[in-house]
Amino acid sequence: MKRITYLLLIILFFGVMPISSASNEWNDLKSRHFIIYYKNAPREFIKTVEQSAEDYYFDIVDELGFTRDQIWTWDERVKIYIYDNQQDYLTLARQASWSAGSTMLGSKVIRTFPSAHGFFDSLLPHELGHIIFRDYVGFESNIPLWFDEGVAMYQEKAKRWGANQEVKSAIQDKSFCSLSDLRLTRKSSQSDVNLFYAESASVVYYLISEFGSFKFLNFCRNLKKGLSFNRALKKSYYRFENVNDLNKTWVGYLKNE
Ligand SMILES: [Zn+2]
Repeated sequence: MKRITYLLLIILFFGVMPISSASNEWNDLKSRHFIIYYKNAPREFIKTVEQSAEDYYFDIVDELGFTRDQIWTWDERVKIYIYDNQQDYLTLARQASWSAGSTMLGSKVIRTFPSAHGFFDSLLPHELGHIIFRDYVGFESNIPLWFDEGVAMYQEKAKRWGANQEVKSAIQDKSFCSLSDLRLTRKSSQSDVNLFYAESASVVYYLISEFGSFKFLNFCRNLKKGLSFNRALKKSYYRFENVNDLNKTWVGYLKNE
């Protein structure tokens, strides 16, 4: 009986050993603002990631107006880890099964895999939006999550216009949630989550498109100085006393759009 158990253990052990000779070491490709780590992904793909990431970097800092701020220096490169596939990513990066890519607030690390849905159009600009915005404003101010997400969503150009339509429908069917109550919790349903992101994208788009990137930069500067969100809003946009005021004007704008 004991011998059979040993035999079974040996079969089980060798049965799960990987047969492939694929490399398990991280290779890297360094560019001006990024270090891309990868194992077996094709070099051509990695080069495309590098080029896109550099292009997005310049687009994002330019659109948010950060290039005009001489004081800001970008001193540490973003690390992008490209796992071989979804399984590798989920296991090694310890992510939830629905996740296609991630960055932790405060870190300059993006983790993803080549076949991730919307990798070039959505995921890369979104995660870079988070990193560049926080690299600029820092963590002094108490910024609501919807604003962080709105800035990141703003970088996913295809989603900017759809968001307004979604928020308008929510206003009509009274499922709209005002900015001061807008948050994500474990209990948020899928439709709550969708509305959260649509409202976040729509209000940031409204701020930049209606009042220009110079005011937006000024707002970010005030956040960087550590002013509270409401104080920074009033100091940069004058017409908004606080978030409730912004909410009211934005909703009025959407109703007349
Ligand atoms: Zn995000």
